[in-house]
Amino acid sequence: MQLIKNKYYFGGVDLLEIAEKYGTPLYVYDTETISRQYKKLSQAFSGVDLKIKYACKALNNINIIKYLKSLGAGLDTVSIQEVEIGLKAGYKPSEILFTPNCVDYSEIVKAIDCGVTINIDNISILEQFGHDYGNKIDCCIRINPHIMAGGNSHISVGHIDSKFGISIYQLPLIDRIVKNNKIKVTGLHMHTGSDILDADVFLRGADLLFDAAKHFADLKYLDFGSGFKVAYKEGDITTDIGKIGKKITSNFNKFCKNYGKNLELWFEPGKFLVSESGVLLVKVNVVKQTLSTIFAGVNSGQNHLLRPKLYDAYHNILNISNTKGSKRIYSVVGYICETDTLGYDRKLNEVREGDILAILNAGAYGFTMSSNYNSRPRPAEVMIINGEAKLIRQSETLQDLLKHQIEVL
Ligand SMILES: *Cc1c(COP(=O)(O)O)cnc(C)c1O
Repeated sequence: MQLIKNKYYFGGVDLLEIAEKYGTPLYVYDTETISRQYKKLSQAFSGVDLKIKYACKALNNINIIKYLKSLGAGLDTVSIQEVEIGLKAGYKPSEILFTPNCVDYSEIVKAIDCGVTINIDNISILEQFGHDYGNKIDCCIRINPHIMAGGNSHISVGHIDSKFGISIYQLPLIDRIVKNNKIKVTGLHMHTGSDILDADVFLRGADLLFDAAKHFADLKYLDFGSGFKVAYKEGDITTDIGKIGKKITSNFNKFCKNYGKNLELWFEPGKFLVSESGVLLVKVNVVKQTLSTIFAGVNSGQNHLLRPKLYDAYHNILNISNTKGSKRIYSVVGYICETDTLGYDRKLNEVREGDILAILNAGAYGFTMSSNYNSRPRPAEVMIINGEAKLIRQSETLQDLLKHQIEVL
């Protein structure tokens, strides 16, 4: 995002012009930002055989998925539908990792039939898989190292009572099932959840994974999941990717030496790759002065961007229509009939009815968590590529809202 001569540019395109052309609310994604983040991650781990598997649940428009493929990414998927979208986007089955949690075994069988790599995160699934496939199909095992890597309880998934992964304390049991069924475990995985605040905590998790890896003779890769934190507001602590990169690279290479084989190192970032690439453009419907607050009520809300409501997430907000206006304090709220504050007490350039606000860091878990609450259509999506804004999804219509309803009265 650049402010040039009082106009905000994103990927080289005037955001206000995009809002005028495509209307609001509107999600806008800048591919240059994605490519910048991809390179940042690759460079931090240049000393190892790195594979980046984009966690497409963060932003699943097929154009974004294809764009990440063009950068060289593989795909991390959590549902059979994401697997199918990935295949449709042109990924080879071997480039896709399927990391489901609590899905029916038949969904895992379906993914195996598609030829993608299965990440097993439950003892009972491991037993069924071993029984049905033995050593015929390679698999990955998701280990829960029980570390808390920051974030709130919704997005921290490595702690002791988390539903994710197989506890590292159950390694002896895993060992037994693997040996009895001759299962070929080619990968070990951990994902401690979003928002790694402390590189050292993450590194401790990595050490536990190295220890666990000694139990398995057929490994080809170790997958360290994701959870890289990006800045949502000024002064936010972000994951020190350089520090993690250096330390993991060095520890990983040491591990490979001891293991006697050069393995691949995998990561599966979502947020890190696409969060900053997205903005949600909204229009101010009303400015409402109460006794204590000035509200800026916009033509969007928790139905389009749930994170502030669900996670108390902070998203920076800019008034892109009045960049020279004097600053005042506003609460930016949605039009949903429920309290759906998008930003409390924000210092914005004077907001007038009709102004366009840009809500930043809306690339990850923005559109993908949107809903039709209040019978509102989901917004359109635009992708900026090579300095050009392209429509990549139409906004929904009333017909879409009624499409699958069956009138019986
Ligand atoms: C959600 C998820 C990710 C991506 O997490 P981010 O915080 O968006 O980077 C990676 N791996 C798995 C298994 C996930 O469920």
